[in-house]
Formats: sequence, C-alpha cells, structure tokens
Amino acid sequence: MFVERINMREKPKIAVFKFTGCAGCQLELLRLEDIFLDLLEFFDISYWVMVKRENQEDGPWDISLVEGSISTPEEIKEIKEIRKKSKFLVAFGDCAIGGCIPSIRNWMPQMEAETQVYHDTSAIHSTKVLGIGEYVKIDAILKGCPPHRENILELLKSYLLKTKPRLRKHPVCIECKYRDNACLITSKKIPCMGPVTSAGCGALCPSLNRECEGCFGPMSNPNPEALASIFRDIGLSEEDIIRKFRKYAGTSIEFQREAGLR
Ligand code: SF4
Ligand code: SF4
Ligand code: SF4
Repeated sequence: MFVERINMREKPKIAVFKFTGCAGCQLELLRLEDIFLDLLEFFDISYWVMVKRENQEDGPWDISLVEGSISTPEEIKEIKEIRKKSKFLVAFGDCAIGGCIPSIRNWMPQMEAETQVYHDTSAIHSTKVLGIGEYVKIDAILKGCPPHRENILELLKSYLLKTKPRLRKHPVCIECKYRDNACLITSKKIPCMGPVTSAGCGALCPSLNRECEGCFGPMSNPNPEALASIFRDIGLSEEDIIRKFRKYAGTSIEFQREAGLR
C-alpha cells in the first residue's frame, strides 16, 4: 500500500555491519523472510557479509545497520570509517546501543575475561565494551536483544516514507496488560523488569510465565529506583538487584545507579 506513495529514483543502499555481539540482530532481520524479497524491490543490499558473497566494501551507503558493541581499538577505527560513509546510521540492537550482554565484561578488571578464555593474550587489545554512540553520531536506534522484526520493518518503512518510526516508548507492562496476563510481581512475587523495560516484544516472557529480564533496555523515563525497592520488598538481595540492572543495560544512564555504577 505504501508502495504508491514512494517516489524512488534509485533504491536506497543498505549495509549491515557486525561488531562485538552474537549476530542475533542480523538473524532477526533475516526473519523478515516472508516479505524479504518484497523488501528487495525497495532497497539494494549493498553490504551484508552474512548473506552475500560479493559486497560493496567502500560505500557510500544510505542506511547502515550496525550490530554489536565496540570492544577493540580496531573496531573504534572501523565504526568511524563506517560513519563517514553512511548517510543514516542505525544502532541496531542493544549491543550497538549500550553494550548489552558483552558489556557484562566491564564489571570485571580489564583483561580478566580474556585471560580466562585465551591461553595467550598477547594479541588481544581490548577496550571497555561500549555502544557505538560513544564514538560516532547515531541517527536512530532499534532497541532489543534482538530488536523485533516488526520494529525493524517499521524503521525501514518510515525511512522510505520519510516519517518518524512509530517505535514504542512505554513499558513491557502495557503490552502485558493488553495480553491479559496476571502480573508476575503482584501475583507471584517474581522479580520482573517489565515496569522499566521498553515495549516492543509483545510481552513475550511474561506471557510464558517468565519474568522480563529487560532485554529491550530502558523505556522512556523509567523509575528503576522504585522497581529496585519492590525487588527488595519481595526478598531480592542487593547483589541480585544489581545483577538484574546490569544484565542488558547496566551502562545506560537510566540504570547506572541501580547497576552499582554510581
Ligand atoms: S543485541 Fe543481543 S541479539 Fe543483538 S548482537 Fe547483541 S547479544 Fe546478539
Ligand atoms: S508481569 Fe511483568 S511485565 Fe507484566 S505487568 Fe507484571 S511487571 Fe509488568
Ligand atoms: S519480555 Fe523482556 S526479556 Fe522478554 S523479550 Fe520482552 S523485553 Fe526481552
């Protein structure tokens, strides 16, 4: 339907890059499988090593989707180069936004994790694990570990239509209520991160009787202090509360204090 509204002289060129992460965000992009071929009518996939043998290495690119956090001096250089060649740079997933799961390494002394994994660390030059926004300007973010396919599609559509993407700012709890779930905190005293976590997954975990672990990162204007206090009331130790807030977005401004960073 939106097709008729688009006046395209040339298809926008997309590039997909991977830094430190698990490649799950790229897989979620591939999970658009039922409409993936339709997307190719509107976008030219110019660089995506996971899916193409021949890639345009030099850019420029209209949209660059960058997955993964930055964790080495080489990656710092690479992300700066990508920025120069990209008109619209997207932090694609929580690793690219704030470090996500790889950033758990930041809570131990530098090189401790590397020493446990590698016998010889002489070739390893790692830095703190940070989101790409620490080094370059970003134009949009797609929250989630990984972002939901519907949100990826929304971003791509809005790019074509030159509109603001309708990405949700409210907490997972709203989606949970839409699904008529009984609240895990109030009914079972299960420590759920839903009240401070950005919606977008359709309340996947609470709908399966599992607490939200916070994988979409902080919602807009959350109140982590209040949630930490509820966690205390239902019996979590200070250490457990810190772990909860560190897991996906401990370096974010919103969760830093509860994650024990300040
Ligand atoms: S955000 Fe999650 S799914 Fe995406 S690369 Fe990082 S760990 Fe993997
Ligand atoms: S179960 Fe979790 S997400 Fe659902 S309403 Fe309760 S706190 Fe919110
Ligand atoms: S409920 Fe929470 S942990 Fe589960 S997918 Fe959604 S945001 Fe992630």
